[in-house]
Amino acid sequence: MKFTPTQTPIHSVTLPELSAKLSELGQPAYRAKQVMEWLYLKRARSFAEMTNLPAALRSSLEAAFAFDSLEPVRTLGSGDTTRKFLFRLHDGSLIETVLIPASPALYGEGSDRRTLCISSQVGCAFGCKFCASGLNGFSRNLHAGEIVGQFLKAEQISGEKINNIVFMGMGEPLSNFDEVIRAIEIINASWGVGLGARHITVSTSGLAPRIRDLAAQPLQLRLAVSLHGATDEVRNQIMPVNRRWPLAELLDACDEYVARKKQRITLEFILIEGINDSLEQAAELGRIARRLEAKINCIPYNPVQGLEWKRPSLRRQDAFMAALERTGADATIRREKGVDIQAACGQLRLQVSQESDKTAS
Ligand code: SAH
Ligand code: SF4
Repeated sequence: MKFTPTQTPIHSVTLPELSAKLSELGQPAYRAKQVMEWLYLKRARSFAEMTNLPAALRSSLEAAFAFDSLEPVRTLGSGDTTRKFLFRLHDGSLIETVLIPASPALYGEGSDRRTLCISSQVGCAFGCKFCASGLNGFSRNLHAGEIVGQFLKAEQISGEKINNIVFMGMGEPLSNFDEVIRAIEIINASWGVGLGARHITVSTSGLAPRIRDLAAQPLQLRLAVSLHGATDEVRNQIMPVNRRWPLAELLDACDEYVARKKQRITLEFILIEGINDSLEQAAELGRIARRLEAKINCIPYNPVQGLEWKRPSLRRQDAFMAALERTGADATIRREKGVDIQAACGQLRLQVSQESDKTAS
């Protein structure tokens, strides 16, 4: 369904907001809960399905709210492997969502964790030099309904129940703060999807003031920080965001997050040959992690077509990990194939847009 300027995306709406709207329409208080049950328990995809609502109310709802269309354009992978979905939004924008199935190697034997990697923006304005998501610049923020919609559509298409989400798809979630928080509230709420805050991870490239804002939020969300360099010198080289908020400022904001939430954060560190994989970087990374009492996730770089960066050899990766371990820091390296795809969000969209460029020319 296409939006008209007066229509609000229905999956962007909270229970109190819907209750207010329905009382304006002269409806009893329990109606809002009924609508939410249709949306999040029964997963209705139109107001027409909501058969226990009076027909006149359904028409009023149809006039005020729209169901967003996330149209699956392509799905890669199947069965118990990582599945990658490419969705087309109502304005033609393309976004990616990745479903990572239970992985004993990653989460331990018997784990039934099914993680969804969600996009928060179309493109990205932060322009990290190694990343596919920012290659074509920034187009727009996603609204909350498009974020919640990725969850609902991924469950619908895969037939799986997702019990963990990470904002590690396309975009910088903390620069779309309000819509990301709104989506998280809807996903977390008992009247919504009902997923616990501890199963929701927000990943940021280091927007220090927004990390403090996140720390002030009541929800116990998990925080992952994309460090990728243990000194300003290295970070400046590959992450322009570091010039705005250098390491000292970033780490102070992380300290605040840890102190207020009383939980461990994760430092993401992709290993790029000759850039950040030296033993000195490992020692410094270990020092930072110990100061924050953070976990470190090392991820061998996943090459992006058109970019010059390389993944270090296995020998070099091992040497880096050994140096890290000597610092006493808590570090793991993720070498799984599926996880490579997760880390490389933005690449499928890139590939499809290059294909359509070819067809167009
Ligand atoms: N903007 C946020 C979240 C999206 S990126 C952030 O930067 O944290 C999710 C993670 O994937 C980040 O840690 C990012 O640095 C990493 N990533 C991006 N491109 C990658 C690649 N080609 N190989 C491995 N990891 C990559
Ligand atoms: Fe944007 Fe994150 Fe990619 Fe950097 S790593 S360009 S912040 S999506």
